[in-house]
Amino acid sequence: MSSSVSSPSPETGKKILLAAPRGYCAGVDRAVETVERALEEYGAPIYVRKEIVHNRYVVDTLADKGVIFVDEASEAPEGAHMVFSAHGVSPAVKEEAAAKNLQSIDAACPLVTKVHNEVKRFDKQGFHILFIGHEGHEEVEGTMGHSLDRTHLVDGLESIPGLPAFLADEPNLIWLSQTTLSVDETMEIVRELKKVYPQLQDPPSDDICYATQNRQVAVKAIAERCDLMIVVGSTNSSNSVRLVEVALQAGATNAYLVDYAHQIDEAWLDGVETIGISSGASVPEILVTGVLERLEGYGFDDVEEVTSAAEKIVFALPRVLRTAR
Ligand code: SF4
Repeated sequence: MSSSVSSPSPETGKKILLAAPRGYCAGVDRAVETVERALEEYGAPIYVRKEIVHNRYVVDTLADKGVIFVDEASEAPEGAHMVFSAHGVSPAVKEEAAAKNLQSIDAACPLVTKVHNEVKRFDKQGFHILFIGHEGHEEVEGTMGHSLDRTHLVDGLESIPGLPAFLADEPNLIWLSQTTLSVDETMEIVRELKKVYPQLQDPPSDDICYATQNRQVAVKAIAERCDLMIVVGSTNSSNSVRLVEVALQAGATNAYLVDYAHQIDEAWLDGVETIGISSGASVPEILVTGVLERLEGYGFDDVEEVTSAAEKIVFALPRVLRTAR
């Protein structure tokens, strides 16, 4: 771990610890660029099914440029250009788009597609899959849609008793997970699952992605030193919400999620000397800069960046747009 050399502001005693890595991951970067390139190549409007990534600012900015966000592929007009979000879609959604002759571009993160492929492979091999994830999340719907009959959702410890009884006698049982979960919480669920299902097999590799893991480690590295942790991210962003939980579990006195700097409540700063800042994987850095500028106005002018990992991953654009990158 490295950090810039710094000490609390001698004038105010107030300090900011800035977690790194934070913000945009390779999958989000690719998804947003996919939509921007599609706008350039084909012109507005470009239709996007669901939010391209779970961030209010990103969605509003793209909407201003001529993107129309819809809930279902069937809402786009016949033959339109349609981008599927970073969270991935089920085969049924692709069929729906094909039925309307949509020009589909899949911006699913390759790390989500990797989980789709695992689900398909284990389904084909006759496994039943305990899929750890949050009910209703788009990634979960898309992933489970690749094996509707053999995938069973585990949404928290409390959902374990409600799993189908026949799974106890099922010899081929494996767990997989959503990419943006808390690492610690997921391992706790796996431990409990193994008590009920001793035959449960581990996946060949982690499904929780590098970006989710790195942002959680970076928050843990500073949380204990923080009276307050501010995570920049939207409430529907799974990995951002997890960062708030991780901060509290790792020792931050208080932790809040904000989309924008103006949502910071002055009362949160009462008696606070050290503030930790991080941002979810779908958050552009401009929003973190806004938070830093606002806090500077309250005397938090000493910023120390604490880096726990270097990230160099870049994903190629979807093939149809690749020459444009
Ligand atoms: S958070 Fe992880 S899985 Fe999701 S888009 Fe980013 S890299 Fe891909």
